[in-house]
Amino acid sequence: MQIDLEAERKEILNRYKLLIKACKRRLEKGDKELIRKAFEVAVEAHKEMRRKSGEPYIYHPIAVAQICAEEMGLGATGIVCALLHDTVEDTDLTLDDIKGLFGEKVSQIIDGLTKISGVIDNTSSIQAENFRKVLLTMSSDIRVILIKLADRLHNMRTLNHMKRDKQMKIASETLFLYAPLAHRLGLNTIKTELEDLGLKYTNPEGYYEVAVKLKETEPERQRFIQKFIVPLEEILQEQGFKFRIYGRPKSIFSIYNKIKTKGVVFEEIYDLFAIRIVIDTPVDNEKSDCWKVYSIITDFYHPSPDRLRDWISTPKSNGYESLHTTVMGPEGKWVEVQIRTVRMDEMAESGYAAHWKYKDSAAEKESKLEAWLSRIKEMLDNPDPNALEFIDDFKLNLFSDEIFVFTPKGDMKTLPLSSTALDFAFDIHTKVGEQCIGAKVNHKLVPLSYELKSGDQIEILTSNKQTPKEDWLKLVVTARAKSKIKNSLKEQRKKIADGGREILEKKFYKCKIEFTLQNINDFVSYLKLPSSQELFYRAAVGNVDVKEVKEFIKHKESPKRKTKTTAPKIEQLITNTRGGNEMLVIGDDLQKLDYKLAPCCNPIPGDDVFGFVTVGEGIKIHRTTCPNAVKLLSNYAYRVVKAKWTNDELISFLAGLKLIGTDELGLVNNITKVISNENHVNMRSISFDTEDGIFTGTIMVYVHDTKHLNHLIDNLKKVKGVNKVERIDQN
Ligand code: MN
Repeated sequence: MQIDLEAERKEILNRYKLLIKACKRRLEKGDKELIRKAFEVAVEAHKEMRRKSGEPYIYHPIAVAQICAEEMGLGATGIVCALLHDTVEDTDLTLDDIKGLFGEKVSQIIDGLTKISGVIDNTSSIQAENFRKVLLTMSSDIRVILIKLADRLHNMRTLNHMKRDKQMKIASETLFLYAPLAHRLGLNTIKTELEDLGLKYTNPEGYYEVAVKLKETEPERQRFIQKFIVPLEEILQEQGFKFRIYGRPKSIFSIYNKIKTKGVVFEEIYDLFAIRIVIDTPVDNEKSDCWKVYSIITDFYHPSPDRLRDWISTPKSNGYESLHTTVMGPEGKWVEVQIRTVRMDEMAESGYAAHWKYKDSAAEKESKLEAWLSRIKEMLDNPDPNALEFIDDFKLNLFSDEIFVFTPKGDMKTLPLSSTALDFAFDIHTKVGEQCIGAKVNHKLVPLSYELKSGDQIEILTSNKQTPKEDWLKLVVTARAKSKIKNSLKEQRKKIADGGREILEKKFYKCKIEFTLQNINDFVSYLKLPSSQELFYRAAVGNVDVKEVKEFIKHKESPKRKTKTTAPKIEQLITNTRGGNEMLVIGDDLQKLDYKLAPCCNPIPGDDVFGFVTVGEGIKIHRTTCPNAVKLLSNYAYRVVKAKWTNDELISFLAGLKLIGTDELGLVNNITKVISNENHVNMRSISFDTEDGIFTGTIMVYVHDTKHLNHLIDNLKKVKGVNKVERIDQN
């Protein structure tokens, strides 16, 4: 390929000029020359290098400097360092060269940047201790962090030239470390871009799915926003406010996360955008004017009382100030409204950069910058031995079904959400788990059941006297811990049972019955125990007494047998089968057995179901999504039997529906019409409630199966004014 070097040289100069333009206002005497010098040194140092895209390497440092100037508001020193940020690591220039050319401060910052590359870019996984090291080096000068963020942002913007595995590594790191860091520093615009790009490369499908849908629904959204805004605009003008009001779309990343964590579909997310009102008002009136605007809005639209956030009276730790409320807009849609001043808005979008704008005198500039820097430094250089506290804010729960926790040495472990200290102990080592007596999380003593959060640092306390207990099974969520505990309990029972044999033998002797295998087995089945080992175990723990043995002998001798009322076994239920048109087959071999449908979840054919052997009421069929399912499945696994629907005969089943919508005239009428027009659907009950213009209806209907029910749901959704129709468990 022919490269036009002359054209490239021109382009490099062009880009340099744009950079100068972006920071000109802030430059003081001598600054421009310094930046020019750095530019020339960088051009010379990188002259033989090209990026993966084939472009001259120097485009990258210039772009990084541009981000530093434009989006972060850095001054000359920061821009010089941005231009030179890759020289020591990637070229022949040494730190001493830099020091000689640009002085102590610049070389310190470049040193920090080079070290970070060593820690983060060249290791495969980021460990807690590295986190800390990185941040502490960085905190010697905040510009190190900012330039590193700008560097990462540009690399993310140009990531399409990288190989897939590199893309994955860089993009995951961005989500894991850089985006939260930007958030922490109040650089919202950069944070959002990093997150969206991070998602685009870690999960292109998820990214494009949301992106495409956002695009498709854009016109409709714009119409709605207009409808929402118009009456407010009028009255705000009347009241003499200087303001901007507009709809602001949520980022693709945040929408995607909502879909994932809340288990909703795109169409169900009500806050795809927020309405933002930015008022121009003197600092002294900020708070009262924001509240005035709040009062105007809520005169128009009903606010949701539990969704008011006042970050003006108490700003967030990263300095975010704003007043948020959620109101019921037109068409029965909840809309988030953000009220803030121009100053707050700029601070929220670009944190650091905004500080430069709001300084008046040079001295004041300096002191405000200093205050901001020292606050961040404090945050990072936390004297609290709890080194990882700050990770709390790092929103590691971006990964919704996993948490990241750390050993005392800083090794990171990934566990499923809701894992406890005990899960962690078993994750370390079986022995550690078995002997676990407690834990210290972030240096505080906690019980075994303590539910871990991302960023927790855990030290497990053990004792060699400790053994796993039965109720530990309820304290763990990981499969590993569960199976280890079960194994160990089995082991324990076996040991105890071994001693029980002798005890039982003595009891048999006392009752003058021979201690033969036959007699033992008969006794086991008389007591309805699963095995002789269980019998020995009971004997060992004192749960078999002479009286019982005597009763057994009496029973053995009398021909008439009495059984206790415990949960019957499948085999016993087989005799109770009813006619030939069952809807369900049950058990491992899928037999036709008698059953009842559980009233707690009203299963209908087509639902995923399981059978549960009850005491006295035969087999009850529950939906796997039944609110009681988890309890039943985890506590009485041995009483659970498989169940499957067989045919689709026209038998009706009761199902509940919940409808939400706006209170349109004639709505109830229209709904009942839809139901009665639907073939073979009978309504059992219907109830409606209206509040603040929102109606909620509960309908119980008889349907054949899920297909039938879904058809009805689809038709109900088409009724004007109906916003949401969902199935509910109970009537
Ligand atoms: Mn770089």
